[in-house]
Amino acid sequence: DLLIEGKYWAKNVQGKNFDKFYDYPLSWESISKYPKEIKTNIINEINAISPDSKAKASNYEEYIEALTGKTLRKMFFERYPEKLWGISVKDMTADWAPKRVNIFDKKALFFEGQWTAVGKNGAGPVYERIADEIRNSSGDIYLENQITKIETSNGAITEICTVDKKIQVGNTDVVVSSLPIVSLIRMLGHSTKLKYRGVMIFYLDCMKKRILPKDAHWLYYDSKEVYFSRITEPKQMKVNVPSSEKTLLTIEVPFTVGNELDKKDIGEITKEIIEQVEKIGLITKSDVVDATMVKEKFVYPLQYQGYSKELARVNSIIGDVKQLYSLGLGGEFNYADTQIIFEKAFDFAKSLTIDDDVSIRGIKMP
Ligand SMILES: Cc1cc2nc3c(=O)[nH]c(=O)nc-3n(C[C@H](O)[C@H](O)[C@H](O)COP(=O)(O)OP(=O)(O)OC[C@H]3O[C@@H](n4cnc5c(N)ncnc54)[C@H](O)[C@@H]3O)c2cc1C
Repeated sequence: DLLIEGKYWAKNVQGKNFDKFYDYPLSWESISKYPKEIKTNIINEINAISPDSKAKASNYEEYIEALTGKTLRKMFFERYPEKLWGISVKDMTADWAPKRVNIFDKKALFFEGQWTAVGKNGAGPVYERIADEIRNSSGDIYLENQITKIETSNGAITEICTVDKKIQVGNTDVVVSSLPIVSLIRMLGHSTKLKYRGVMIFYLDCMKKRILPKDAHWLYYDSKEVYFSRITEPKQMKVNVPSSEKTLLTIEVPFTVGNELDKKDIGEITKEIIEQVEKIGLITKSDVVDATMVKEKFVYPLQYQGYSKELARVNSIIGDVKQLYSLGLGGEFNYADTQIIFEKAFDFAKSLTIDDDVSIRGIKMP
């Protein structure tokens, strides 16, 4: 009852004047409408891909080229990932790349073949429902209560400190952390080179009935001239809005902690974002009646060359702490959508509660 089903389309916006809209995912139907020369190159390059080039690929760039050929790689898998991740595709590992790049016959939905829905009133009510269930099952939730320290002794957690609480932890208690793994490891007294890419999300409340083109729910931008990588208009996905005369744009800006964008004053960067959305032709400044921004520092784990060795080291430190398990997007250092995170959490809970040889608890606390 909290969700509303829908089918969502995406476009990649390119061109000097932000006026070239390419359907994404790729399809032969869309490619057939590309200029003749580009189309011919794409077909020739795909036909020339040798069967072993994927296995030989040593980085993201080579892996993608082994899937799509050079032209499609340069159109869709170079500027955009570099903007999103903030590093060159040459420095990204091959296992960072999508394992398959589907080229559908017909123009395809963004999540082709999958059930898709949005929260009728956004994502918040879904989490409020979960919170109610936790409280109804005698669980406690402490909001706005930052964890500051984890005390250990002889390889076991003894105390978890928050800004205003000290929680004693017994030897047979179970501690499941969904903190970013870098924060967890620091609280255990270690350091790590693992890094995340963050996202600033700007919400522009606009006095307009609709903004995005009719057949697009997400617009992706790879241009260096604008800070954002993606714009969404939740109203077009049937998320409720307070007034039919107004709509909201959500604008995602990838950043790295401490970089130029991160250091900008909120007022200054918000003004620039509004100017950039005007520049790409979606709104005029006077349409915006309110603007807010949230900053998430730990979103996309950076899978640079050599990260997996460092991740294994960090996981072994966590593995050595008797009651501790690290789960979730930041906790496992692996970007995944919510449904995957939840499915993994259900599996984990099951393996924690069953009492046989596949019980995770049995493995950690023999
Ligand atoms: C812009 C954006 C769009 C997305 N869109 C979608 C989508 O459309 N569909 C989808 O399924 N998924 C989407 N995702 C992914 C989704 O948000 C994640 O899969 C999900 O939030 C991961 O849940 P998590 O609990 O593992 O991590 P998080 O949600 O990141 O939770 C970790 C929590 O730890 C808290 N924390 C950190 N440090 C401390 C501390 N010291 N003390 C206490 N708490 C702390 C953080 O505040 C945070 O609340 C999107 C993500 C982003 C950033």
